[in-house]
Amino acid sequence: MRSQQTREREQRARQEAARLGAEGVRAVALTFVDNAGITRVKAVPTARLAAAVARGVGASPCFDVFLVDDSATASRDSGGPDGDLRLFPDLDRLTVLAAQPGWAWAPVERYDQAGAEHPGCQRLFARRMAARAAERGISLRMGFETEWTVSPALEGPAYGMARLVERSAYMNDVVTALVEQGVNVLQIHPEYNEGQFEVSVAPSDPVGAADLAVLVRETIRAVSLRHELTPYFGPIVTAGGVGNGGHLHLSLWQDGRNLCRGGDGPFAMTATSEAFLAGVLSALPALLAVGAPSPASYLRLEPSRWAGAFQCWGLENREAALRFIAGAPDDPDAANAEVKCFDPAANPYLVVGAVIAAGLAGLDAKASLPEPVSGDPAHDSGQQRLPASLPEALAHFSASQTLREAMGTRLFEAFAAVRHAEAALFEGRSPQEIADATRGRY
Ligand code: GLU
Ligand code: MG
Repeated sequence: MRSQQTREREQRARQEAARLGAEGVRAVALTFVDNAGITRVKAVPTARLAAAVARGVGASPCFDVFLVDDSATASRDSGGPDGDLRLFPDLDRLTVLAAQPGWAWAPVERYDQAGAEHPGCQRLFARRMAARAAERGISLRMGFETEWTVSPALEGPAYGMARLVERSAYMNDVVTALVEQGVNVLQIHPEYNEGQFEVSVAPSDPVGAADLAVLVRETIRAVSLRHELTPYFGPIVTAGGVGNGGHLHLSLWQDGRNLCRGGDGPFAMTATSEAFLAGVLSALPALLAVGAPSPASYLRLEPSRWAGAFQCWGLENREAALRFIAGAPDDPDAANAEVKCFDPAANPYLVVGAVIAAGLAGLDAKASLPEPVSGDPAHDSGQQRLPASLPEALAHFSASQTLREAMGTRLFEAFAAVRHAEAALFEGRSPQEIADATRGRY
């Protein structure tokens, strides 16, 4: 017997499919992001959407241990050719893709054949952590910044209007496609590197922020290819240069009130915010394995490149791994914190889930923040560098009981296996070889 809930979802999917069909949408791309940080896809004809919603779409669990180069490793419970999962699309996120005519998109969650949650599902993990915060009356608003680099590059100077003019139609098409998809774009600009851009979008709930990170990236990819540009979302494009960041903004809310302001903690944050952020700050060495998960990440995470290579925090300090933004006096709700050390190789669902887990551990410990840092911490010998290699970050990750408990053994171990295997994959390769092998993969 199918449950009432399933029947209702199926009914709704039929209505959505009819609407999509009338708009010329012939197929729906269903995505999840694996432990390598790669967005994998199964697609169904629009007419199959209701069936996908009712029964899921089959997919191998092997992606839990896939690497960035599409080879696979194994962990205690993951790997090998056996087994099948069901992918269930989230209809609330169903979006007609403006830059891919005939296509719509929805993110999925992964369940087993018997209908139980797959313990390796990253989106379910993010959802569980958001629910944990909600149990304490806290909701989080989060948003990822997207930085990317296109080839061929541009002639104009960093952040220059000349670059916007050079790529006028392209940048306009990126904004247009995002806005048509209902994405609340805050700003877009040419970044530091030749050919580098950034777009930021309004915050949403944690799972929604991760979904948006996927949608924004795939939209940019589609627009880029239509303009015959090759987009790179890897952490580093040219060894020795500035990389692509994947900064995460977050604020804590309770009863409609932003807890990043109106308190008597540093820069007027509340005690709850301070404890949460202190939990995140102290867990950064372990969180780095999640948020900066590739050997390529450590080619980006260098001092004095605005990547946040030091384990410190500061008010609007772009070299601190954790940047606090107090917000303008007439826009106090804008107060938030930004984790700068993360990059686009990260699985955004794992990032939001792991950051919430670390923050809640800080709340439990009633943690407080150390002194804020101003100026470039690279010029202050008292400041602590974050791990400078993936193996170093992995050692912290593997020792983190907080993350092990939050993620659950199966996800934790599969993720660690992928990280170990990617470290081994690139061992002994030159920085530029690592950049070349990863920049176009994400
Ligand atoms: N591209 C820098 C990074 O690797 C960030 C620049 C900025 O602060 O926007 O994170
Ligand atoms: Mg930027």
